[in-house]
Amino acid sequence: MTIVELRGVTKEYPGGVAALRGVDLVVGQGELAAIVGPSGSGKSTLLHMIGTLDRPSAGVVCIAGHEVAELSDRELSTLRARHIGFVFQQFHLADGVSALDNVADGLLYSGISLKERRARAGAALERVGLGARVRHRPNELSGGERQRVAIARAVVGEPDLLLADEPTGNLDSAAGEGVLELLGELHRGGTTVAVITHDMEIAAWAPRRVRVRDGLIVADERAYAS
Ligand code: ADP
Repeated sequence: MTIVELRGVTKEYPGGVAALRGVDLVVGQGELAAIVGPSGSGKSTLLHMIGTLDRPSAGVVCIAGHEVAELSDRELSTLRARHIGFVFQQFHLADGVSALDNVADGLLYSGISLKERRARAGAALERVGLGARVRHRPNELSGGERQRVAIARAVVGEPDLLLADEPTGNLDSAAGEGVLELLGELHRGGTTVAVITHDMEIAAWAPRRVRVRDGLIVADERAYAS
């Protein structure tokens, strides 16, 4: 199944800045792709398109078979909640709230009872290696652990796509490596992962590298495990 499909996507910001100038991109189920490029190349704009956080100026964006242009803003929120898990550089966890409830919040709009949300959150925290930290609040966790909580929150609803924006950007190299290992594990378990980064090491780690420059995809490379 195709999870992400972009056809001829352009994005112009007010003032005439062409941040994307005709992007075609297909990401299939189960892929792990790094979208890599220097600052200003259009990565964040691309993330906004794939994450359906913004609409293109022209072109087609389809996520899990749903064409974004055909959906109202409200329907788009539902699409995001059901199909996409987000992970950000800054973690974006709620401060005074336990790891368990931060993760359970990832199911807030699913219509699932609090008890069940917490049960699934506990399982997701186990999956990211934080089974012993469920009662900890973010300020009682290391940076790497916070990002694991954020990843657990992103995957607790079993989204079609895990979309990570510079997920190691705020971590030291050891914690960063741990987060990449975790993303790799999720990928091997069947999760489709797209990582947006300017970091060439992360790009080298990913089996597929989509290179962005000046609002265009300039290379799309796949490495096959030998
Ligand atoms: P990256 O994430 O690779 O740094 P961006 O997608 O943020 O790149 O930006 C691509 C281009 O679009 C840059 O020239 C940037 O200045 C411009 N841009 C980004 N966001 C806006 C905005 N909201 N308004 C105007 N220009 C923007």
